[in-house]
Amino acid sequence: MQIKPKLKIPELKMETLAVHAGRRTDPTTGAVTPPIHLSTTFERGPDGEYPLGFSYAREGNPTRQSLEECLASLEGGKEALAFSSGLAVATALLQGLEPRDHIVAPADVYFGLRQVIGGVFAKWPLETTYVDMTDLAALKAAMRPNTRLVLIETPSNPLLQVTDLAAVARMARAANAITVSDGTFTTPVLQRPLDCGIDMIWHSTTKYIGGHSDMTGGVLVTRYDNYLFERARKSLLFGGATPSPFDCWLALRGVSTLPWRMRAHSQNAQAIAEFLEKHPAVERVYYPGLPGHPGHDIAGRQMSGWGGMLSFQVRGGRDAAMAVAARVELFTRATSLGGPHSLIEHRASVEGPSTKTPQNLLRASIGLENSDDLIADLQQALRNGGG
Ligand code: PLP
Repeated sequence: MQIKPKLKIPELKMETLAVHAGRRTDPTTGAVTPPIHLSTTFERGPDGEYPLGFSYAREGNPTRQSLEECLASLEGGKEALAFSSGLAVATALLQGLEPRDHIVAPADVYFGLRQVIGGVFAKWPLETTYVDMTDLAALKAAMRPNTRLVLIETPSNPLLQVTDLAAVARMARAANAITVSDGTFTTPVLQRPLDCGIDMIWHSTTKYIGGHSDMTGGVLVTRYDNYLFERARKSLLFGGATPSPFDCWLALRGVSTLPWRMRAHSQNAQAIAEFLEKHPAVERVYYPGLPGHPGHDIAGRQMSGWGGMLSFQVRGGRDAAMAVAARVELFTRATSLGGPHSLIEHRASVEGPSTKTPQNLLRASIGLENSDDLIADLQQALRNGGG
């Protein structure tokens, strides 16, 4: 089933779209907040048609359609598809490629995506080149005649490297490859890759878009009709990576406050990055809002805020970093990101023996607590140096 966005009001500002796009007062009850549609099946007309456009829940559902319309609108895209998780989006995208197609991905791409490419698609097979996307000459050298897809992640997870979206879009277009950027860390509030010429954007809505660490989902948004989007649609509708109506509803509710939450996450993270940068037990801080970050200028051009994610290396190696994570009281030692609680994680031990992440690196998702309290917690955790 073709699901078209119905509400597209580009002149409205982000905060307004976040509250209204994809939603309308329920015409049958007057309810202001949208209902959750749980029905798995929808009535056919006497002529055998589906008069309201829905037939079966795997193929489409009104709650899911609202979320898709809303996120397409926020990204400035033509259409969106909601999935059951972020990696379900990536899987559907890769399923659209032919065996031996070549893809380019960032050298420090999100570890889970590397697992999909190297694990799930090992038998496809796909040809993959991992490249430092901050080095445009290296990217150019990596392109091949059979390159179909260029994956981007900026800022990247967990090293917060910044890629020049417009430059990569130009290079990929010249090579007839489709660009797809992972917007999970930024959301459309802080960065709109489609405006920079990127072809499609995907998110794990499990993170900032849901915003409360209580749902799992993903979304793919396209700027225009293209074969990889159509194949991803088929993979979703027939392959069945369907998001639940409740998860769609939670994501939609999360979007209403997204612009304000992203602002608060960014403010808190900036204060904490500045604190960590001056701390003698900290070797290096990775945060694009710091003027010394190598991608600060590019990020300043393409982002409207620096985001809530940062990483830092603790002096004294792996044990020192583990000791800091063990001592925090307000931060929670947990994976994931984008919720109200500040989380801290030793990434290398999550990623396993093949990781390239430094062993003394801690990644933090800065939440919505007061930054003074978070700084006090880190201060006491770092009190004796790292060890
Ligand atoms: N992209 C990034 C940057 C992530 O951090 C994650 C998950 O941590 C994903 C994608 C995958 O999302 P999900 O866990 O919803 O499949």
